Amino acid sequence: MDFNRIKEMGLEYAEKGKNAALDLAEKGKTQALIVNEQGKLLKAQRQLGALVYSLAKGKEENQPLVDKYIEMIDHIEQEITRLKASLTPAEAAEVDYVVHEEEPAAEPEAPAAEAAPAEHKSCPQCGAPVSDDALFCNKCGAQL
Ligand SMILES: [Zn+2]
Repeated sequence: MDFNRIKEMGLEYAEKGKNAALDLAEKGKTQALIVNEQGKLLKAQRQLGALVYSLAKGKEENQPLVDKYIEMIDHIEQEITRLKASLTPAEAAEVDYVVHEEEPAAEPEAPAAEAAPAEHKSCPQCGAPVSDDALFCNKCGAQL
């Protein structure tokens, strides 16, 4: 084998390597988007849970607001399904693994946030006090 052929092969591999890296970056981006969406999903589900709990506790009803959360959760779930469809099952499983890995780390933070109820944020629409991580105003239903 002459030197030129070896050089050619080297270039070929370098080219393949570059494409593989690009591919990986693209997959990584999709996976990062899914992880981000799943974070949003968990947050929305937690907010909905907190809302339903506080409504039930006060024997109140606010179906339009509950519906808004459900609509948002549906939307996020659809987005996750759409993103996952562009990944192989193995890659999608990898994302689930990442998300489940992150869950225990998020747990200790939650009680701390609840211990200090943040009343300093207010709704830009009606001025009602809203909790820091609320997605909608509990009073007028504006998206925050
Ligand atoms: Zn409001």
